[in-house]
Amino acid sequence: MIMRRSFNMTKTIIGYPRIGEHRELKFATQKYFKHQITQAELQTTAQQLRAKNWNTIQQAGIDQIPTGDFSFFDTTLDTAKLLNIVPKRYQDLGLNDLDEYFALARGYQGETGDVKALPMKKWFNTNYHYLTPEFDADTQIKVGDWQLFDQFKEAKAQGINARPTLVGPYTLLRLSRLLDGKKTSDFVDDLIKAYTEILNQLADLGAEWIQIDEPALVYDQSAEDLALFKQLYQPILAAKGDLKVLAQTYFGDVRDSYTTLLALDFDGLGLDFNEGRDANLQSLSEYGFPADKTLFAGVINGKNIWRTNYKQALALLQQLPKEAVLSTSTSLLHVPYTTQNETKIAPKELQYLAFAQEKLQELADLDAIREAGVDAPAYQKNQALFATPRYEENAALNAKIAALKPEDYTRLPKRAERLAQQAKVLNLPPLPLTTIGSFPQTAAVRKNRAQLRKGEITEQQYTEFNHAEVRRWLKIQEDLGLDVLVHGEFERNDMVEYFGENFAGFRFTENGWVQSYGTRGVKPPIIWGDVSRTHPITVAETVYAQSQTDHVVKGMLTGPVTILNWSFPRADVPAKLSTEQIALALADEVLDLEKHGIKVIQIDEPALRENLPLRKKDWYSKYLDWAVPAFRLTAAKVQPTTQIHTHMCYSEFQDIIGAIDALDADVISFEASRADLTLLDVLHDTHFETHVGPGVYDIHSPRVPSVDEIVSTIHKILARIPEDHVWINPDCGLKTREEPETIASLKNMAEATRLVRKER
Ligand code: GLN
Ligand code: ZN
Repeated sequence: MIMRRSFNMTKTIIGYPRIGEHRELKFATQKYFKHQITQAELQTTAQQLRAKNWNTIQQAGIDQIPTGDFSFFDTTLDTAKLLNIVPKRYQDLGLNDLDEYFALARGYQGETGDVKALPMKKWFNTNYHYLTPEFDADTQIKVGDWQLFDQFKEAKAQGINARPTLVGPYTLLRLSRLLDGKKTSDFVDDLIKAYTEILNQLADLGAEWIQIDEPALVYDQSAEDLALFKQLYQPILAAKGDLKVLAQTYFGDVRDSYTTLLALDFDGLGLDFNEGRDANLQSLSEYGFPADKTLFAGVINGKNIWRTNYKQALALLQQLPKEAVLSTSTSLLHVPYTTQNETKIAPKELQYLAFAQEKLQELADLDAIREAGVDAPAYQKNQALFATPRYEENAALNAKIAALKPEDYTRLPKRAERLAQQAKVLNLPPLPLTTIGSFPQTAAVRKNRAQLRKGEITEQQYTEFNHAEVRRWLKIQEDLGLDVLVHGEFERNDMVEYFGENFAGFRFTENGWVQSYGTRGVKPPIIWGDVSRTHPITVAETVYAQSQTDHVVKGMLTGPVTILNWSFPRADVPAKLSTEQIALALADEVLDLEKHGIKVIQIDEPALRENLPLRKKDWYSKYLDWAVPAFRLTAAKVQPTTQIHTHMCYSEFQDIIGAIDALDADVISFEASRADLTLLDVLHDTHFETHVGPGVYDIHSPRVPSVDEIVSTIHKILARIPEDHVWINPDCGLKTREEPETIASLKNMAEATRLVRKER
């Protein structure tokens, strides 16, 4: 029998989504950007959303509610703004606070100046992005008045004594850029002063607890890192008075900082028992947990969308101190609001899903269950659900996967031999010209898809429109002098959703939006059960395109790792299994394309690098060791003469160069237009075997690159990579661009290539 805890705090969350159940914040903010509503109106919307969230959280029985998790764009930027870490070029714009904040987040072009946004980066291992603060010679850290105090007061007015949250000094330093030759140590004293002041101000306002987020602790920590952490926190905690301070971590474990955290005067420690489960449990059992601190135990998964299995949760709770406060493993920012707005998923299936609001209820359930044990009604109901299979297993498929042998992952003959055979068949000029796959998704292209969806046009009308676009773009590509052509991807809304919709085993939400950055949301598909291919997907479009030209048309697929990483994965099987299932489905598609005469097939993996584990020692054993073979499965059975391309939207793979070559593609295109010479050096020094198309211009801006510029980029590439390994292409797909700039840029790219060919 579990004992009743002596104090009343039992359950909390790290943070809640803020975009609004119906994306109200997004729409209001966009209206504000277009000057359709005033700043006061935007503030009112924001205030209503906060009030509604707090109310929902309170109704669910959560007894400590965070504030400061609301943001107009990003909470790392909020912390920087609060601390006046605002580069001079933004301050010089002379804007009011909110407009200055938006200038930092999205750039500013107007009466008082022209500045770009701060660089945006992926937030740890999520698809959320933060703005990268900049510390430079002008940085004057001081506590201003931005969000944190007001949100606390606002909650107080609603009768809630909230727990303010902000990004901690250590994580802030680790995520920021230091410019002008500045070092971390230059800012330590000022940060200590500022955080101390924040704590004092919050205590004066009546706060009992404050949550300081230090997720950077889940990366590998060196002795110097830990020394810096101590240096920052000893003085801050010495000055905290009666205010209780929670050090909150998430996205992994604190194996190397656990004893450091215990030795410091934190009142609470927030640990992730989802992604950090094993190592955090290990630390607890090895060093114990002190009675004078409170453990905030992240037991409800804050990142996935599945209902928690209470049997497993209870087994976990039994390994934790019985006074632990139940919490989520991460902020609920990473899941949609509620399943209640989903009408297209059958109720029978919907009960297996838990979004943010449902997870609040799960915390309440677990709290009741740890009192009442397995007889609690919530436990019984939950176990009845888990006793019913959610989907029908594809036993034949899983048997096939279990029986896979090394040769199933191995393409023969070796790459050099294949490339020689392909050269004969494809008969391409030196420095072959190609593109990454998509062409501009004009309003007409999107309208055509929408009309089909709404049943306003027939399937035939839809296809005829797309075919006309394909023909028009084949002609453009031929006129430009490109060598390997593409059909343009006009039938695709999104490179993952498109395949998900065509495979068996996926589900789609109507309202399952998750913030990606600022006003931008994503609605990831859900991998529901075993994934398989029930019909050819891209064959008709690709074969049609090939029938309309004498040039080679490149087939275009999204790779298995990217499909997995940009979906909500299953929780009942390892990611590896789903990825292998997707890979086998794609392998059938690849063979089908080949059978229908397609000689070049590109399998995009833009998300491969994204999901590298946060700790370097896990990169291979927990990820690349299965992700790379999964990619290889997709193409292992094709003829040597069929050329396999892949594409990645980044160029930071110096540190995993071996894994990239081990994908065993024949050709890879990537983003190097920002003249990433280091990577070219690495490709050279490591004798990278895959032929490469390091993008020769940046498609992320409407700017048309000149012929001269591209010629010089090609020269740089040829200085490091053998000419017969090099392809010429833009650095990513062109779907987000306008047509005139796209054609102008491709024209210059082709012209530059012809000039360089002549020099040779
Ligand atoms: N083939 C896709 C396109 O061209 C690739 C997109 C991507 O890399 N994200 O749009
Ligand atoms: Zn790309």
